[in-house]
Amino acid sequence: MPILRGEMRINEPMRKHISWRTGGYAERYYIPADLDDLANFLLKSPSEPMYAIGLGSNLLIRDGGLRGTVIALHGRLKDLRLIEQNQAGGLIYAGAGVACAKVARFAARHHLAGAEFLAGIPGTIGGALAMNAGCFGSETWGIVARVQVINRSGQMFIRRPGEYAIGYRSVKLQRTLTSTAETEWFAGGYLQLPGGDQTESQQRIKQLLARRVGSQPLNQPNAGSVFRNPPGDYAARLIEVCGLKGRCMGDAMVSPIHANFIVNTGNASATDIEALMMLVQDKVRKETGIELIQEVRIVGDVRGYA
Ligand SMILES: Cc1cc2nc3c(=O)[nH]c(=O)nc-3n(C[C@H](O)[C@H](O)[C@H](O)COP(=O)(O)OP(=O)(O)OC[C@H]3O[C@@H](n4cnc5c(N)ncnc54)[C@H](O)[C@@H]3O)c2cc1C
Repeated sequence: MPILRGEMRINEPMRKHISWRTGGYAERYYIPADLDDLANFLLKSPSEPMYAIGLGSNLLIRDGGLRGTVIALHGRLKDLRLIEQNQAGGLIYAGAGVACAKVARFAARHHLAGAEFLAGIPGTIGGALAMNAGCFGSETWGIVARVQVINRSGQMFIRRPGEYAIGYRSVKLQRTLTSTAETEWFAGGYLQLPGGDQTESQQRIKQLLARRVGSQPLNQPNAGSVFRNPPGDYAARLIEVCGLKGRCMGDAMVSPIHANFIVNTGNASATDIEALMMLVQDKVRKETGIELIQEVRIVGDVRGYA
């Protein structure tokens, strides 16, 4: 059995790794050296509960923390390559740990269009694949040719988009997994992009980022949109008409700049944020009859595991 080359941390404060800058501890936190090391780690710990994270930009870990091991992929599964390029366009491989913004810039540099929207998503390619992240009319799975996955036993294989049920901020394997032993994660994505112009793509990236600066509370810790937009409407509009902008629970606040963002104004706990989310859902349900569905992922225990 090969020696593990990654770094294991015990009782890791997850607030360091979550864009909301709050939440509990991970019992164990493994930073693999690379993809092969991750495969060996998974093989060596068959019964350990595992949870993969990227940049933690869509995640709340409850204050009681997370049992088992968090596998930290950002900056580790970091392969970023141009696989092929011709008159029509090109194919890029991006490891799950590569930041989306880096992929947007890489594609532009190689005269490939259609990945500019990734510049506005402050997560990794793995997180973008898991969430079908998107903005300004484009979605991650709109450019995916195939994905590389790694399963609980460390085996790697390729899957096609047709094997998933892909929806708005939702991606599920069509086949039902029958046991946790079948759990799998994205190790990387192959992105098919049409040919483009480097300067035009770079301009578009600049414009997309400028639009965000004016419309999002980027100077306070947050996790982007908390709720999915209901069909034909916007969660932010519904929250705003219910008079919830600026509503607080502890140091968690519905952003006065963008009503679908909850910001941490100081020392908000994960409990504060979750309670504020529930308050927003209740009020919107009572006043509009619409059930807001959370977009952010919430995991972990309310009470400590120690
Ligand atoms: C300021 C701000 C703006 C945002 N704007 C947008 C936006 O415009 N559009 C949008 O869609 N999102 C947006 N988001 C949310 C977030 O950036 C995206 O959902 C992003 O794709 C999450 O990536 P991540 O690496 O941070 O994932 P994490 O938050 O680390 O994880 C999110 C989920 O994905 C799972 N996951 C992570 N990596 C993998 C993997 N390799 N394999 C399987 N599952 C995995 C995790 O287990 C978790 O369930 C925004 C967030 C912020 C803070």
